[in-house]
This record gives sequence, structure tokens and C-alpha cells, in this order.
Amino acid sequence: MLLLFMPLLQFTNKGIYCEQADLYIDPWKKVPKALITHAHSDHARSGHKSYLCTHETLPILKLRLGKHIPASGIAYGETIIVNGVKFSFHPAGHIIGSAQIRAEYKGEIWVASGDYKVEDDGISAAYEPILCHHFITECTFGLPIYKWDKQQKVFDQINSWWSSNASEKTTSIIKAYSLGKAQRLIHNVDQNIGKIFTHPAVEKVNNAFREINIPIAKTIPLSPKVTSKDLEGALVISPSSSSELLNNAKSISVASASGWMMSRKRRRNGNIDRGFVLSDHVDWIGLHEAIKASGASHIYPTHGNTVTFSRYLKEQGYQTEIVKTEYAGEIDID
Ligand SMILES: [Zn+2]
Ligand SMILES: [Zn+2]
Repeated sequence: MLLLFMPLLQFTNKGIYCEQADLYIDPWKKVPKALITHAHSDHARSGHKSYLCTHETLPILKLRLGKHIPASGIAYGETIIVNGVKFSFHPAGHIIGSAQIRAEYKGEIWVASGDYKVEDDGISAAYEPILCHHFITECTFGLPIYKWDKQQKVFDQINSWWSSNASEKTTSIIKAYSLGKAQRLIHNVDQNIGKIFTHPAVEKVNNAFREINIPIAKTIPLSPKVTSKDLEGALVISPSSSSELLNNAKSISVASASGWMMSRKRRRNGNIDRGFVLSDHVDWIGLHEAIKASGASHIYPTHGNTVTFSRYLKEQGYQTEIVKTEYAGEIDID
């Protein structure tokens, strides 16, 4: 009898597929059943017939895809069994609610990391290494040049930039993605320096988290009522610095907080005064730590520098296969 080996998770043109359970992880085409690692747009698409994500991701998924989508929440560490396959969600440390998804069947364990970072940012549930045989890992920053400073060092730099601007009544604007980076900034900047204003896109996400009792510090939404006096010395967190809501600010300093700020070219082209290297993705060293801690022998790099990273892993004796995603180009959410 010929036994055909079918891996528990497969890489299809709709996304990561588990045939045994007939469901997908972070699919980019419409499917009946989707498990979602987190609510960033390259992982959570609209149109699936059912969604399962962590309780913390659920309100953001609904905010982004519609209140009435057929979505339900699961706690970190809770197990569901679908046709014999055990699934559970574990903290990925990427943004609030983000999860790695573990799948186990007949003793074989796979982990799909989604996006992750290994440093505890203080507001997202901290990354937990999960033992497995097969590890699907993002590698957005899978090159040796990407090494992050400890976040406290970066926040010291941000705080001193803000307080020196504040002493000159200048408004400090940090460009940051509205889901993830914005909440990390709000949580970790020194609240004593001054008031924090947020773009409405950020404030919507903040409020969705506050409704489920995630402690996002007090922020003031930008609105046409906010005067130039109000904005003097304040910090503004916004996905863009060209918002008309910022027209009242007399003197401004614009910064960006992102892993891409390692690149001089990006800093130069970004129309910014300061670039803070602060990423919600794992760096080169963290990738190695995570892969080692997973105990996996089979590694599947996805998102980012997959070719270089996969070659490097092969040299280290790992079995690797690159996972292609339709949205591999969408790597600016960092
Ligand atoms: Zn993400
Ligand atoms: Zn991503």
C-alpha cells in the first residue's frame, strides 16, 4: 500500500491550510473557516464565513471588518479540537491580541507565528516560545543588519526629543501605525512631559481596547476644536503628519517610529526630522532565539527576507521551505 505523507499544514494559494480540520490560518482569499493571528490587514481579510481570533483581537477585527462579521474569540492557551486537530492560540508579543497558532495532530506539532517580537513591550501579552516540530516564522527583518536596541533606550530618546520640543512650545508628531505601534507608544512614553493627542484612526482603536478593559492611558482625540495653544508642547500620535487636524499647530517636529528607521534612505525620504528605530517585529537575533526555543527542525520563513534567511537556516542544518504570501509586499506595518 502506498502511504502518501500529507503535512498537517499546507501552503496553498488561499493561505495556510489544515486539510484535516478544513480550515485556514490568515487566509487572503475568502474561505469557510479562518483562524486569525492578529488584526493587521495583511493577516485579517474580509469575506470569510467564520473567524476565530483571541478575545483581545476580536473588537479590532469587528472595527475593521464590520460589527456583524461571524467572528468569535478564544483565550490564550485555550484549546479547541476540530476533527481531531487540537488548536490553541499563544501570545506573539507583536501587538495587543496577537497570537501564534499551535496545531497538533497525532503527535505532530506545528506553530504558525503570525507576526511576532520577542521583547516584552509592556502592553501586548509577552511572546511565549512554543515547542513544535514545524515552525512557520515571519522574517520581515531577517537580515543581520537588523538589530534592535532595548525599547527603554528608544523610549529614552523619544522622551528627550519630546521634552526638548515641549520646552520650545513645539508640537511633537510621531507617525505610527494606528493598530499596535500607537498603543505601544502611548503606554511607554513619559506621560509627565505633556498632553498626548491622537488621530481619530488611533483613537478608534484605543477605545475598542478600552472597552475590553485594556489599560490604554488617557489621550485626547484631535478635532477641529483643538487650538494651537492646546497643541503647544504636546505629543501627537498619528498615522500621517499631513492631517488637516494638525493645521493649528504652529511649530512642529515630525518623527517616525519604525524598524525601517534603521535605513538612512527611508529616514531621508520620509519627510521627517527624527527616526526612532522601534519595531513590532522580531530582529535578527530574536529570530534565532525564537527558532532555537521552538525546538523545531523544519522552519518555514514567510514575510520579508525569506530567500536570504532560508539559505542561512539551511546552512545551520534546518529543513526549510519558503512560504509565499500574496501580500508579501505589504511589509510597512511594523
Ligand atoms: Zn502584523
Ligand atoms: Zn504581517
